[in-house]
Amino acid sequence: MKRGTPKPKTPKGVTPVAARIYHNQWIADCPDCGNAEFVWIEEPRFMCSECFNGAIGGAWRPVEIPNDRADIEAALGARPLPKTRNWQSSPRTWG
Ligand SMILES: [Zn+2]
Repeated sequence: MKRGTPKPKTPKGVTPVAARIYHNQWIADCPDCGNAEFVWIEEPRFMCSECFNGAIGGAWRPVEIPNDRADIEAALGARPLPKTRNWQSSPRTWG
């Protein structure tokens, strides 16, 4: 039996948000209002607590997690101060 929250359908054409690291935390920025939310790597979907993704009818947005996440985390982990552990990808386009 599969556990967890059911994944609501995301409408086609919805732009995903890119995960980035800010002060040692994976976060993503809302493309509609600029708010940021923590990202759960195990559940890479995004719901803004400010605008509730109203621009796309309240649907979840997918979150892009970089394929080389482990390498990024390892590289940043070598930095002694968590506030210096920051990373972001260039904007990507969802096909
Ligand atoms: Zn928002």
